[in-house]
Amino acid sequence: MGTGTVWFVGAGPGDPELITVKGRGLVERAGAILFAGSLVSEAAMRWAPTGCVIADSKDMTLEDMSAWLIAQAARCDTVVRLQTGDPGLYGALIELVQPLDAAGVPVQVVPGVSSAMASAAAAVESLTLPEVTQTVIFTRMEGRTPMPEGESLEALAAHHSTLCIFLSITLMGKVTAALTAAGWSLDAPVVVVHKASWPGEEKIVRGTVATIQGLCREAKLVSQSMIIASPTLGARQWSTLVKSKLYDASFTHRFRRASIPATSLTQGNQDTQDKP
Ligand code: SAH
Repeated sequence: MGTGTVWFVGAGPGDPELITVKGRGLVERAGAILFAGSLVSEAAMRWAPTGCVIADSKDMTLEDMSAWLIAQAARCDTVVRLQTGDPGLYGALIELVQPLDAAGVPVQVVPGVSSAMASAAAAVESLTLPEVTQTVIFTRMEGRTPMPEGESLEALAAHHSTLCIFLSITLMGKVTAALTAAGWSLDAPVVVVHKASWPGEEKIVRGTVATIQGLCREAKLVSQSMIIASPTLGARQWSTLVKSKLYDASFTHRFRRASIPATSLTQGNQDTQDKP
């Protein structure tokens, strides 16, 4: 058996510049690369060295993929499995790691910029805001993959926190029905980002629970789209905003002493060790 390592590398959301420096370095010295054809931008392959064996996994089964990775690890030191966004989100990471473990092939994972983060960035939105929501839920609508008990979109939406909904653009009617059933108003903002960060191909559709389905249909979005529903959306235009305590002049934390006395609002917060 060979001694090569299989690296699961997050390729980022599409823009080749959004792969990490570490991921790019691994691509540059890879002896073999298996990439997810339909999703990973071909441009991310531009750093592969000459002589590197490159395969597209789009027509492979999981068994084909693990057999390919094991065979390449027997032949070369660095084998890269390039996955879209972050490998730990909706990416069959563990199904691929188990056969490698069984074959004694070392495995490492390099995180990537998830499309959830790239979509928020594209729309210049913050997924958390002080006193609005401090929670982000990554989820999907039930489709062919069933949702575990307690994870229906309606149940999750009842928290009224930020929802980043993957893999669900073709189920938009069900998404808005779940939000409505959970008590979201028809005016609540929703943003859909298609091909976030892809040079020249990104589309941002802004609407509400009532309008977003029609707007996405008009824009012909049927794949590679992130649905973000959040009470923080549109905050760029708000005239009143509760400012983050991190930069509040009355708030002392690890790196800075308060320059003005604390108000009743800031006194209560003892949570200063890491973040505001
Ligand atoms: N591991 C990936 C998610 C893979 S699942 C990640 O961390 O981003 C595939 C889903 O991700 C798509 O259905 C879509 O909802 C989302 N997605 C992937 N790339 C995207 C992009 N560039 N823009 C918007 N959504 C994207």
